[in-house]
Amino acid sequence: MIKIKDLEWFCPQPFMNTLVYRTAAPQSCCVLKQWPKGLIKRKYGTTNPIELHNEEEYSNFRNEFLNGGGPLTKKYCEVCIEQEKHSSQSHRNIYLEKFTNEWGEYHEHLENLEEYINTDMSEPNFKTMEYVAPSNFCNLRCNMCGPYNSSSLAKENKDIGLHDAYGMEQFKDKTLKKQKDDVEDYVDILKNLVELKLVGGETLAIKENYDLIKLAVDMGVSENMSLRITTNGTLTPKFDGKDIFHYIPYFKECIMTISIEFWGEKNNYLRFPSKWEVIMKNARKFAECPRTRIMFATTVNALTIGYLPEIADGVYELREEYGSRSWITNEEGLTYSLWSWASGSLVWGDGNQYAPSSVPLDIREMYMNKYFEHGDFMKKEYVDWQKLYNYLEDMPFDKELHKEMMKDIQVRDKHRGTCLTDIFPEWEPYYEKL
Ligand code: SF4
Repeated sequence: MIKIKDLEWFCPQPFMNTLVYRTAAPQSCCVLKQWPKGLIKRKYGTTNPIELHNEEEYSNFRNEFLNGGGPLTKKYCEVCIEQEKHSSQSHRNIYLEKFTNEWGEYHEHLENLEEYINTDMSEPNFKTMEYVAPSNFCNLRCNMCGPYNSSSLAKENKDIGLHDAYGMEQFKDKTLKKQKDDVEDYVDILKNLVELKLVGGETLAIKENYDLIKLAVDMGVSENMSLRITTNGTLTPKFDGKDIFHYIPYFKECIMTISIEFWGEKNNYLRFPSKWEVIMKNARKFAECPRTRIMFATTVNALTIGYLPEIADGVYELREEYGSRSWITNEEGLTYSLWSWASGSLVWGDGNQYAPSSVPLDIREMYMNKYFEHGDFMKKEYVDWQKLYNYLEDMPFDKELHKEMMKDIQVRDKHRGTCLTDIFPEWEPYYEKL
């Protein structure tokens, strides 16, 4: 019998997770790059993960994880591969440890996963699902985002003439794309899930997300599920008279992942035009919901990488403020922190100019020194810091990407009436106000 611990480069996601789109074929996780989701949809005429489960694109990809890797993982898993060049922390390892670590949240499903990989896997075994609602609506314009995830960024690109920016080919005419989705189609997947994750656009502002949540509640399966919502934390609207606060209590637990890039007012600059006080007000409201915890998640990009310790600082302050309320023990007796943070996605690939490789060497040195000014951080969450520090130390400087990023920042600053160096003066030698 194959044991996961004996496999060279295993990831659970292709075996038990599906990330579903209404408009494109599903993929194993949100980190994959260049997965041919449009091509697969055209080839098989469906976006249904159950119908596509045994098609060669999916079965060949799964098999590579049982055989130590191969050309498909090399191509599509480039973010995890890049992360693992710099430290042991990668999306793959985080997902893996959920099963293999004795305290991992899905450790109880390890046996099931191992049994599954020893079958012919012809039946799907989805335990977690990520739902990408069929709309790119988002009220923010984060520089490093793309038009697929933000209608506002797509509109800004159009307004300032960035017609060839990454992903713009589909948004040249219409910057807000919305399609209807019949969430009833997901009934067969929903009934077996232990985790339902909703991502955006701005998740809380898209009606289909509420339709899916309501369906899980109506089916009576929400009480078995961890509800995970990624949100920019700026909006909590009502759909059909009900907001997210109404639905959360129906779930086994809820994790609100609030996307931020900096702690405090600096966040307003990159997650433009958000207001820090609104985000914090909503975060505190989420924290009052039953069995709910809050995770502040950042991307790791050229502008944020020197400032991430400040986010951990802010989280430690919140924990102190909330005292004993900062710790939540779940039904299984596992204790979690009400407030946490994660250095989430590495901005990498697809020619994204905001990759950390755009940071010039003198700024890197300054950031690396700054890390040590944050007291005992290196000890507290060593693996996180080691990874970030190593990106700064090891990634070759990409001069061309850097130039493109500076141009992008300057053009957006002019349009928004902002100025990078007012907030981050270290970029002065590289910045020209337009
Ligand atoms: S290795 Fe990384 S990119 Fe590949 S499926 Fe796993 S989490 Fe996704």
